[in-house]
Amino acid sequence: MFSRLLIANRGEIACRIARTAKRLGVATVGVFSDADAQSAAVRACDEAIRIGPALARDSYLDGGRILEAARLSGATAIHPGYGFLSENAAFARACAEAGVTFIGPSVEAIEAMGSKARAKALMAAAGVPLVPGYHGADQSEETLAKAAARIGYPVLIKASAGGGGKGMRVVGEAGAFAAALASARREAMAAFGDDTMLIEKYLDHPRHVEIQIFGDHQGRVVSLFERDCSLQRRHQKVIEEAPAPDLDPALRRAMAAAGVAAARALTYVGAGTVEFLYQDNAYYFIEMNTRLQVEHPVTEKITSLDLVEWQLRVAAKEPLPLTQDQITARGHAFEARIYAEDPARGFAPSTGRLLRFRPPPADGHLRIDTGVGEGDEVSVHYDPMIAKLVVWDEDRARALARLSRALRAFQIIGPSTNLAFLAALADHADFAAGAVSTKFIEAEIDRLL
Ligand code: ADP
Repeated sequence: MFSRLLIANRGEIACRIARTAKRLGVATVGVFSDADAQSAAVRACDEAIRIGPALARDSYLDGGRILEAARLSGATAIHPGYGFLSENAAFARACAEAGVTFIGPSVEAIEAMGSKARAKALMAAAGVPLVPGYHGADQSEETLAKAAARIGYPVLIKASAGGGGKGMRVVGEAGAFAAALASARREAMAAFGDDTMLIEKYLDHPRHVEIQIFGDHQGRVVSLFERDCSLQRRHQKVIEEAPAPDLDPALRRAMAAAGVAAARALTYVGAGTVEFLYQDNAYYFIEMNTRLQVEHPVTEKITSLDLVEWQLRVAAKEPLPLTQDQITARGHAFEARIYAEDPARGFAPSTGRLLRFRPPPADGHLRIDTGVGEGDEVSVHYDPMIAKLVVWDEDRARALARLSRALRAFQIIGPSTNLAFLAALADHADFAAGAVSTKFIEAEIDRLL
């Protein structure tokens, strides 16, 4: 095992990684920008190094500064968390060149999955079902429009380099295609510096079901079951759960097997998530994320495993701690993402001092992952997610009741939050009744606000 680990992230995920490292006896080195000098993440680490100003581009996204911090501190491994440099192949390569272990898959796997077009070509070759669509190299408007007509409207134009729902446009009819393509391209170029586009059939009531997979350096691959992340707003996850409700057992197994096949096709090492859309008893690959996901705690709650521990062990070239047969799931878990944002003002980010920040007390049924505390300032510089509330119980109904209670018991005064919105979601009869599609929030928004 590594003796010293640098955590190249901030907020709740930096705190969460530090917790596991501490338990394993691994010394931790945090990095921080000027905006985070007094943060919980800095306190959670054994030492911390300033890497620059608040602007992420000059701090958390600056691989050179982070590698310099690793060199100065003697850290031999870097955990990138999620976001920032976690799926940056150039950074993973720079780590290798500096003789530091990047906690993640190979540079080749990151590169291949970083392009949704390449990912889809690889998955098709591995026999994994895709959403009907076009992911070719010919990017002329004429070819893309022809593909859309062939696939049949409505279609989704999607940035190959995309993430976070950026560079996506739903197009209902041929007459609107050219304008939507131009605006998606502009957005993708600004956000990712790459305007390669895919065209997909737009599914009208899909569920988002994703498979957590893990691979090791010995060539083994396992799945840690699925998560349902269908509760989304603007293609962004809001509440996640595991296992997925109302999923045919044969389909559940088939999806897990497809996730494993995807990982095998990449000789994948570490934690990864293979994302599918599921509709009318069929499932379709959409993308693979080559990092730890925000929503990994729901998998941890049902499996009683620590995914960060597995990441560290596998990166240290240990074999996977368990075989597929030894991995079991019990009960049901939900995660709600708590944001400093104002649902009444179009969910605009909200900033300011947390005058009161009192999560309900954690216990075996309830886990709070956060990087803030009472008195802290929520700044404009980073993602407005301030906490994740995770609940577990023996069955879905009980877990959902716990989620509702815990959301109501959570006290935050200062910036606006989405707590009441999340509680309304947790209490919605249709959500309680079982599976809902990714369109649910949009359709119900007036009743949820
Ligand atoms: P990103 O990388 O930007 O998150 P994804 O490809 O993972 O983009 O898609 C994000 C979400 O967008 C999905 O969870 C789903 O809700 C929606 N989505 C993506 N592709 C389709 C599609 N073909 N039809 C309908 N919804 C889709």
